[in-house]
Amino acid sequence: MRVQFWGTRGSIAKPGRSMARYGGNTSCIEARSARGTLIIVDCGTGGHSLGQNLMSASAKGLRGHILISHTHWDHIQGIPFFAPLFVPDNEWDIYGPKGLGQSLRETLAGQMQYNYFPVTLDQCEAKIRYHDLVEGTFDIDDIKVSTHYLNHPALTLGYRLEADGVAVVYACDHEPHSRMLATGHGEITGQDLRHAEFINRADLLIHDAQFTAEEYPAKIGWGHSTVEYVVKLSKYAEVKRAALTHHDPLRDDDAIDRLLASIRARLREDASSLDVFAAVEGQVVEVAPSPEKGPARRAGEFQAQTPIEPALAESSVLLGIADTEMAAAFSEVIRAEGIHVEFLSDMDEARKLISKDRPSLAILEHDPPRIDGMETCRAIRQQDNGHEHQLPVVMVAAQGDQAPGAAAGVTDWLIKPFTGAYAQTKIYAWLLRTACQWMRGGIPEDEERRLARPPVHARRAPMPQKGTENKRFSENVISTDKSALLWMYCREIAPFETPTFSKKVGELIARATKHPSETRNLSAAN
Ligand SMILES: [Zn+2]
Ligand SMILES: [Zn+2]
Repeated sequence: MRVQFWGTRGSIAKPGRSMARYGGNTSCIEARSARGTLIIVDCGTGGHSLGQNLMSASAKGLRGHILISHTHWDHIQGIPFFAPLFVPDNEWDIYGPKGLGQSLRETLAGQMQYNYFPVTLDQCEAKIRYHDLVEGTFDIDDIKVSTHYLNHPALTLGYRLEADGVAVVYACDHEPHSRMLATGHGEITGQDLRHAEFINRADLLIHDAQFTAEEYPAKIGWGHSTVEYVVKLSKYAEVKRAALTHHDPLRDDDAIDRLLASIRARLREDASSLDVFAAVEGQVVEVAPSPEKGPARRAGEFQAQTPIEPALAESSVLLGIADTEMAAAFSEVIRAEGIHVEFLSDMDEARKLISKDRPSLAILEHDPPRIDGMETCRAIRQQDNGHEHQLPVVMVAAQGDQAPGAAAGVTDWLIKPFTGAYAQTKIYAWLLRTACQWMRGGIPEDEERRLARPPVHARRAPMPQKGTENKRFSENVISTDKSALLWMYCREIAPFETPTFSKKVGELIARATKHPSETRNLSAAN
């Protein structure tokens, strides 16, 4: 497989002399199988030069596929400038993560509304098909594609491309699940282990490496990896070559050189066979098969293009959150997408709800002695012991206690502080995953009875609170510092998101800056 980098910069295009060697254009890579199948992964500003290059080779009759990791600007801004989309007789398939409430096509059309761009998406003359993807696999001609949700404050898919006996993995943008691993230390467990499995034995791994371990503490929640994390994971997953990309817009060429030199020195000390390089705009990498083959794709894996709306529509979420403000904010975000919310009041209730309603996700808070989420999690695991599909449990806590968490059966963590977008994305990713599992597992026998149940909205009151009256959602979720709020607000509305999302963020900010007495009134309304 032949891979060419057309954009290697993260977040924003950054032209200039000091960036000229590694390049200033944002994420875009081209991959071609030996048979000629063309896949483009992400279409940031680098997509403009790629489009020009494709046009110079053959203007008409072009056939290609664009995989979008997520719809943050730096990954889609090249689409309106990608010339092959404007040529009749060309055929393009565009794929991206299925959002809730808005299709990929609608989101992409958003950046081409008349007040942003003079030509609308409908005016592209090529034949364009849109595909909303979930986690799973599918084929593009001779290339096998696998998708995997990444950890980012927007639904984001990593792509694994397999053809010609090689595997190329693209994982941008992604933040380590464990904050310890972000520093390059600690054990690879939980969702980081799932991520390692996804990149396992890649011949070429193209990975977000925007930050360093030293910079990371100031960048928690930005949704990006550190070079130390990429190196640690690559070694563990026996990756052959790792291309660091999504270079920080503040890191110039000389700084990238220094970073790379220090990584290579450490790899030499460890006598590691891992080859790490920093991706250069324009660089071509011929990926040749290695004697040791990676794991072949398992038969019967879930089709990433399956419409999962029927399963999603009947999803419900169990909330075991003691903090009233946080519980209210979570339930609001979940209900906004038409998904039922159940509040856990005690263990017996939890057991009944799990066997009766088969929820798609449980979100528990762990903040002892106020609330013991681990204990609830253990009770849930006893309940669903023996079920084919375990209920995913996301634990909200001040820190991820990986070992006790794994023993209690925690699936994933939401570590404070986190932004509304992070929480929302994590919830949606798990709802989508569970819906996929459902579809894969077939419709249960008692489905009709389950669907006939009355709507659960407000069927139960939130669990009784202990001394949390004056504790505000913002204290747990986002900093109350106004400048930090504004910073997060700007970051979160910058990407193209659904109108519902923008409304929610606005409400969260308004709530976080309100006086506690007003906040109580707001939560009472839920
Ligand atoms: Zn990005
Ligand atoms: Zn992003």
